[in-house]
Amino acid sequence: LVSRLQPFTSTIFAEMTALAVRHDAVNLGQGFPDTDGPVGMLEAAKNALFGGANQYPPGPGRPELRAAIAGHRLRYGVEYDPDTEILVTAGATEAIAASLIALTQAGDEVIVIEPYYDSYAAAVAMAGAERRVVGLVERDGRFALDVEGLRAAVTDRTRAILINSPHNPTGTVFTRAELEAVAALCVTHDLIAITDEVYEHLVFDDAEHIPLATLPGMRERTVSISSAGKTFNCTGWKIGWVCASPGLVAAVKAAKQFITFVSGGPFQPAVAHALDHELPWVEDLRTSLQGKRDRLATGLAEAGFAVRPTAGTYFVCVDVRPLGFEDAAELAWELPERVGVAAVPVKVFTDHPEEWKHLLRFAFCKRNEVIDEAVTRLRKLT
Ligand code: PMP
Ligand code: GLN
Repeated sequence: LVSRLQPFTSTIFAEMTALAVRHDAVNLGQGFPDTDGPVGMLEAAKNALFGGANQYPPGPGRPELRAAIAGHRLRYGVEYDPDTEILVTAGATEAIAASLIALTQAGDEVIVIEPYYDSYAAAVAMAGAERRVVGLVERDGRFALDVEGLRAAVTDRTRAILINSPHNPTGTVFTRAELEAVAALCVTHDLIAITDEVYEHLVFDDAEHIPLATLPGMRERTVSISSAGKTFNCTGWKIGWVCASPGLVAAVKAAKQFITFVSGGPFQPAVAHALDHELPWVEDLRTSLQGKRDRLATGLAEAGFAVRPTAGTYFVCVDVRPLGFEDAAELAWELPERVGVAAVPVKVFTDHPEEWKHLLRFAFCKRNEVIDEAVTRLRKLT
């Protein structure tokens, strides 16, 4: 294995899920729902499957899916041409990797916000670029963007900034003011923004998801990425997409066509159906997840953890110190065997493990009885 990929030989999700299976643990580690998406979407997939949609779809994605993606983005007030400004990908993961490979190279720096979703560091490395990490800071009871730190991280080699909101693993949803600060930097220094918006619909209370591309000056320099997995409970389908100006989309397509070429034939029309018709179902999902967030947060607090607030995504982070532990990773490795629950330590998503070692991430995209069982087991920790 080449040296630049040596840090990335296994993922925490694969390792934790394997450990959870070995110990028959309740798996609140890897974030995936344990119920299916809307029936209409499943039926659309079945119909496509039996209706012959089993060969290569068109390179940019099926036309009805690109039209549905454009229609969905229009809800935020941004218009994209389905023919030149939208590309369907193998999940957001491929969209992120192909964007970085297409738009950054050796000598370029990419700003990444820490903690970061694990594929970012690997994708920057595959592109041959370097990551510059800026940490979130705990302020006013939430994990906030360190605007000063962000400014200080820009150099004459900075090419792009990768922004994830709603944010995995902290559950932060960036405010308009935070996004304006990002936009100002991008415009001043002529940077490309790559946004990971896979949790765009999973925002709670009065939080609002604001796509960076809707801010002045950002439409033409933002590669907006999302996917169906989190919105429609179909993480295994791996249907994602890129929305950007024609030049950026053409660049990403150049990389994407030689990574997977195309993927997900029969799932593409099903996701088109979902984007066109199933947003009321998603609203129910959102409400239900908000209840699950409260259910798990309450249970974790009762088990003795110091729970951090979550405004979006389906993750909640806790500080393990009140229970007498210093390193959440050590706890995470023994938790499946000790009490039969799996979780993910936040420090594995960072370049500064010492600063983040107290935090443990739990996923709450699970049936209520599963959450309750996890909490019952975790109470045995004290
Ligand atoms: N970005 C974030 C922040 C994620 O949590 C995930 C995991 N689901 C992905 C991207 C990957 O999305 P997909 O499954 O569509 O590739
Ligand atoms: N996105 C999910 C998480 O953060 C899992 C993705 C994966 O397993 N690669 O838990």
